[in-house]
Amino acid sequence: MLLDSYKITRVLPCLADPEKIRVIAEISGEIHEAFPYLNATLKGCIYNHPALTLTIKKDGKLFTLHAHHITLAKIEDEKEAEEILGWLKNLINETYEKRHRIEPNFSKGAELKALDMFKLLPGTNCKKCGEPTCLAFAVKLVGQEIDIMKCIPLFSEEYEEKRKVLSELLHAAGYKVTS
Ligand code: SF4
Repeated sequence: MLLDSYKITRVLPCLADPEKIRVIAEISGEIHEAFPYLNATLKGCIYNHPALTLTIKKDGKLFTLHAHHITLAKIEDEKEAEEILGWLKNLINETYEKRHRIEPNFSKGAELKALDMFKLLPGTNCKKCGEPTCLAFAVKLVGQEIDIMKCIPLFSEEYEEKRKVLSELLHAAGYKVTS
């Protein structure tokens, strides 16, 4: 069994939806060996093989698997988080057990969406980045035409959590993140 146990260690406000939560769970052992097989069998994953992260999209929620922990976004409550972690545990272990029958997929997979990036920006349209709106910035960010560092307000304490999630998503998708 690749994933034996997990434990929720942090519960934070969800950045994309203030009525929901973001959950971080530490896990026993390392699960990254299952990632190319999950990437091959699930639709719409974002896989960063060098960084050992795999982001799974399901029912409008985002689950990012790292070698040693899992983050869940847009979660209703801790009960739902436990259910999803149980589902992920079974999925990871079952997929890994069947790996000899699966062609591993090491490609990056689905691309990031500008709207998802936009939700993690300050949303003030302050123009400090040189773009007319935060959405215009998000479009350029996804196209790798602008550096995240250009959004100066994002680096203030107020937006620290948003910045972390945004950096994590960019990093998971294989983008160069300078912060
Ligand atoms: S600097 Fe940041 S907050 Fe201001 S418009 Fe650009 S992306 Fe939006």
